[in-house]
Amino acid sequence: MGRRKKIVEQCERLMDEPENIRNIAIAAHVDHGKTTLTDNLLAGAGMISDETAGEQLAMDTEEDEQERGITIDAANVSMTHEYDGTNHLVNLIDTPGHVDFGGDVTRAMRAVDGALVVVDAVEGAMPQTETVVRQALREGVKPALFINKVDRLISELQEGPEEMQKRLLGVINEVNELIRGMTDEMDDIDDWTVSVEDGTVGFGSALYKWGVSMPSMQRTGMDFGDIMELERNDNRQELHERTPLSDVVLDMVCEHFPDPIESQPRRIPRIWRGDDESDIAESMRLVDEDGEVVLMVTDIGVDPHAGEIAAGRVFSGTIEKGQDLYVSGTAGTNRVQSVGIYMGGEREEVEHVPAGNIAAVTGLKDAIAGSTASSTEMTPFESIEHISEPVITKS
Ligand code: GDP
Repeated sequence: MGRRKKIVEQCERLMDEPENIRNIAIAAHVDHGKTTLTDNLLAGAGMISDETAGEQLAMDTEEDEQERGITIDAANVSMTHEYDGTNHLVNLIDTPGHVDFGGDVTRAMRAVDGALVVVDAVEGAMPQTETVVRQALREGVKPALFINKVDRLISELQEGPEEMQKRLLGVINEVNELIRGMTDEMDDIDDWTVSVEDGTVGFGSALYKWGVSMPSMQRTGMDFGDIMELERNDNRQELHERTPLSDVVLDMVCEHFPDPIESQPRRIPRIWRGDDESDIAESMRLVDEDGEVVLMVTDIGVDPHAGEIAAGRVFSGTIEKGQDLYVSGTAGTNRVQSVGIYMGGEREEVEHVPAGNIAAVTGLKDAIAGSTASSTEMTPFESIEHISEPVITKS
C-alpha cells in the first residue's frame, strides 16, 4: 500500500475518535513564517519529504493550484501524530497572513478549536498578530504561541542568553497582554495566557527545522545553551535531528489544544444562538455522531472535476453521500454528492465524516462560506464577523 493511502486510512480510523482529534489553525502576521512552519509539520507527519520542507511550501502551492485550476482560500490538511503513545488526527487549516484577508482568517477560526500564533522573534507582535489573537478568542479558540526565527537572534544578531531571554519574554508578554485584554471579560474562559513553564510556548526556527519547548527540553535533555551552541556553530542539521520542530509543535498541539468534546460545549453558545435546550444543541455539545447533521461551511473551493467544494466543520451527526441537507438562507435541500478530507491541500474521498472533523463536501450548490448545512431545519450559526482593521499595538 502506498504511503499516502496508509495515511488516509489512518486518518479515517481516527476520525471516529474525537478525543484524539485536534482541529487547529496557524495564524501569523505576514512573513512571520506560517508557511515554512506548516511545511515542517507536513514533513514531520510524512506528508512531504523532509528535504523539501521549507522549499516546497506545500500550503502555498500557487503554481500547482493554477495548473489544476484549483483555488484554495484557506487550504486544509489532515495529518497524524503520535503523542504519548496515542495516535492523533491533526486537522490543520491555513489562514491567509495578510491583513486584507481578515475575513478568511475569521472563517478558518470558526472551524478550529486551537490557534497556534506564530510570531517573528525579531519583529515581535505586529498588527496582524493582534487581529488573529482577537479573532481566535472571539470564536472561543484557544491560543498557543510559537516564536519563530530564533536562529536570527543567535546567529545574526549575536545575542547572548540574557538578551535573548529578555527579548523572548517581551514577545510572550505582548501576546499575553492581548489575550488578557480580551479574556478578562469572558466568563466562559479561564486563564488562557501562555507560558514557557506550562508548555504553551515554543521557540525555534522554521527555516532550519528545529524547535524547543519546556517539555521538549525535558525529553531530549537539550537545554537552551546546547541549542545556542549548535546554532552558532552552524550545526543546524544536528539541531534538526536532535530536536525536530515538527515534534515540538505537534506535541504542543496534542497536549494543549482542546479536543472537540472539550471545545464544542464552550464554543457552541458563542457561535450559535438557537434554543440551547433543543436536541440539536445537545447533539452539538456532545459531538454526537449519531445526531442530526450540522455542518458549518467555512470555505468554498473550486475543483475543475468535482465543481464547488464546501469545506467546513461538522459539529454534529455524520456526513455521507446522498444526504439531503438544508442550506441556511435558501429554500429546499441540496444532495451531498461526495464527502472527503484534505491531505496536503488535495481532497481524498472517504465514506463518511463524523462530528468533530473538518469535511470537504460536494453537491452543496447553494452553500457559501458562512452557510449552515443541516439535516433538519435549524437556527443557522452566527454570521462570521470580520475584524479587518488591526489596532496598532506598537510603532
Ligand atoms: P508567512 O508569510 O508567514 O507564510 O511566512 P513564510 O513562511 O513565507 O516566511 C517568510 C520568510 O521568512 C521566508 O523568506 C522564509 O524563508 C523566512 N523564514 C521563515 N522562517 C524562518 C526562520 O525560522 N528563520 C529565518 N531566518 N527565516 C525564516
